[in-house]
Amino acid sequence: MRHILRADQFDHDELARLFGRAIFFMEQDQHIKTRRNTLKLHQGRIMVSMFYEPSTRTRFSFEIAAAKLGMAVIGTENAAEFSSAAKGETIEDTVRVLNEYGVDAICMRTKEDGHAARAAAVSNVAIINGGDGKAEHPTQAVLDAYTIYQKFGRLDTLQVVMGGDLAHGRTVRSLAKLLSTYKNNHIIFISTPELQMSADVLKYLDKNGTTYEQTDDIEKAFTGADVVYWTRLQLERHSDAKLAHGTQAFTIDKSTLRYLPKKAIIMHPLPRVNEIAAEVDKDPRAVYFKQAGNGLYVRMAMLDAILKELP
Ligand code: ASP
Repeated sequence: MRHILRADQFDHDELARLFGRAIFFMEQDQHIKTRRNTLKLHQGRIMVSMFYEPSTRTRFSFEIAAAKLGMAVIGTENAAEFSSAAKGETIEDTVRVLNEYGVDAICMRTKEDGHAARAAAVSNVAIINGGDGKAEHPTQAVLDAYTIYQKFGRLDTLQVVMGGDLAHGRTVRSLAKLLSTYKNNHIIFISTPELQMSADVLKYLDKNGTTYEQTDDIEKAFTGADVVYWTRLQLERHSDAKLAHGTQAFTIDKSTLRYLPKKAIIMHPLPRVNEIAAEVDKDPRAVYFKQAGNGLYVRMAMLDAILKELP
């Protein structure tokens, strides 16, 4: 059974197939007639959607993706409160029980690092990691890679600037790992010393021969960047006001954009809080809402790939 647990589990051919399929689903979605064809693809399949942490894009896009593929969706948007987790049940037991109900995929977001892998270890049903603590967000990384590919037609030889709360953000961790499986990418991490990228990811990049820098100099980092990937402070994972204060220097606004090449794109996994000023939204380089939209079709492609392998 094929679970989706880590960003680097996808090989390059598989990613290319997923991107092609995402484009197909996007095209199918443009007309009601072709939408109805897509609806026939996975009728009779069921996705459980189980979110222990707040989510807008991941949950809605997965649930809409499943609906567009003809699946039924059963779930809870607040599993921490409305499932037996509130009574102390382990993730393993919850998943063992769901396995008894004849479902085809379980999409989950958990508060704890590694919970998706723990679920997968006891599950015959595909587990989709919709974000586990600060560890990984693999489906976000795939849609991010798709967004980069859409602009540049490649995922190698790119200068990528990642900024914000890198120590607690799972999207930057997953994307950095995924990009390091491609050749000649250079990553510039921008943050305060306390919120810089974790040593395990840096080690991973070293192992893959991906070069990187750590800095707090936005001007220098933006000059020559292909991709700027900005993130918010993950205040649900730490509440140190001092740390929060430090990143206020890292707000992107019109004046910061002066340093950024015309060909670059500005990405953000969203939600954006105040680290990108609203005035940036109008800049043609700002693609974060399009990036979120891509999530629907990329997630349709991922669900379709999982379901196609089922007997
Ligand atoms: N939506 C992304 C996540 O779930 C980014 C964020 O919340 O900051 O990790």
